[in-house]
Amino acid sequence: MSGAAAECSRAGCRDTAVWAIRWRNPRIHAADRRKTWVACGEHVVYLREFLSARDFPVEVQALVGEAS
Ligand SMILES: [Zn+2]
Repeated sequence: MSGAAAECSRAGCRDTAVWAIRWRNPRIHAADRRKTWVACGEHVVYLREFLSARDFPVEVQALVGEAS
């Protein structure tokens, strides 16, 4: 892929994502499934809290250069 920066997953935000939020909904996802949202520095906390408020397992990792 030719270097297109990922955009924040927050609705309406077009900022470049610098965090990857890996999460799972235990009710619908198998134990080894992970969904990934990406977030800018401003919205990483919002998105993580949104998920953890629903008791979803959440991990936040720095998003480094390459898209995955
Ligand atoms: Zn954002």
